[in-house]
Amino acid sequence: MQRPTRLSKTPLRWRALSLLTMLAVAGCMAAAPTSPVTVQSTELDKERRFSDWVEAFKVSARASGIDEETLRVSFDAVRYIPRVIEQDQRQPEFTRNVWDYLDSAVSAQRVAAGKIKLLQWQPTISPIASRYGVPPEILMAIWGLESSYGSFTGDISTIDALATLGYDGRRGPWARSQLLAALKILQSREFDRAQLMGSWAGAMGQTQFLPSSYLAYAVDADGDGKRDIWGNTADVMASTANFMLQAGWQAGQVWGVEVRLPPGFDFARADTRQTTQAWVKQAVQPLNGAPLPEIPDSAILLPAGARGPAFLVGPNFRAILRYNNSTSYALAVALLAQRLADGRDVIAPWPRDLVAMTRLQLVELQTALNAQDFDCGVPDGVLGPATRGCIRLYQMRQGLPADGYPTVSLLERLQSVAAPKADTLAPSSP
Ligand code: CA
Repeated sequence: MQRPTRLSKTPLRWRALSLLTMLAVAGCMAAAPTSPVTVQSTELDKERRFSDWVEAFKVSARASGIDEETLRVSFDAVRYIPRVIEQDQRQPEFTRNVWDYLDSAVSAQRVAAGKIKLLQWQPTISPIASRYGVPPEILMAIWGLESSYGSFTGDISTIDALATLGYDGRRGPWARSQLLAALKILQSREFDRAQLMGSWAGAMGQTQFLPSSYLAYAVDADGDGKRDIWGNTADVMASTANFMLQAGWQAGQVWGVEVRLPPGFDFARADTRQTTQAWVKQAVQPLNGAPLPEIPDSAILLPAGARGPAFLVGPNFRAILRYNNSTSYALAVALLAQRLADGRDVIAPWPRDLVAMTRLQLVELQTALNAQDFDCGVPDGVLGPATRGCIRLYQMRQGLPADGYPTVSLLERLQSVAAPKADTLAPSSP
């Protein structure tokens, strides 16, 4: 399930001690001069401000129809959790190549475990897959990636996590709306506060639903009156299938297929959405020998750039992206499902000689492109659509394959060659 988008500002780090610990330490160090006491008093202030924030939030929750009993059970023992903020502000030093991610996400172990689970749960999952039109293997793959098939669903109180993020996180309004949704779940009395557990980011249960998604899509498949995404596999699968259906999953259609691109393929057109027939006319061919399946509104996905495997993907791939808006994640779900369905793996080799860029290098790349009047936005070390677009434009102007994929050699080229400014050049022919 979707996690907060990472922003790349210098993290404000602080580590709050529990109130009791702080009081004890403050007492022991009462005679100590200066800084430790200052730090403790700052943290005490922070605890106090969190309490004030909770009181203010209760007022707005009351106005949104949350009853007093729900507010009492939710907030009487609410805790600020420092490690939630640490996770929220964590900035990995390196970006991760998609093949490295897929090596662990679609590991032989996860495939093997998935096959066993698929056999074990087939009588439960098959009717649900038929009802919603989502293949059992796709449901299994989401289950496998989100919680290793239900084996780890997170051990943090969702109320505490979202209150912490609502008060102190990078996306306060988002967290506050999720906290309100969590209160509505508690108000339904299906579950009590202690049962509402999940990840630091507020995602809950075996396929990591955010509270708003729970309210919108969770299903009581076994008819016991509870939408139990924590402990009931039928509810987990039906809820996930319902999400995928509402996200646009098209029954009977494949997520995509690995393809071979013709020599001279215009990479700048890869994102164009068109029919399979239109791609066939451009000499795009399947890699597995079978005819290309009809996928309406399909585009070419190049997760590792022009040198890596290419996939023709359509609405069902985009439905997986609605679950978690990360190309690597969606590809992992699709490829794990494919491995579970017929054992097929990616055929073309990944360009494993390419070294993952550091965040700093990506910032340098964005800065260098901006300096040449390509608009990458504020350099933030994050590879988003704006950065891909601006890399692509630079590549077109340089007569390179315009795949929008950042590499160290591209950075070196930018830094070593004082290229003319973008607006002084006409686009080169592909
Ligand atoms: Ca149920």
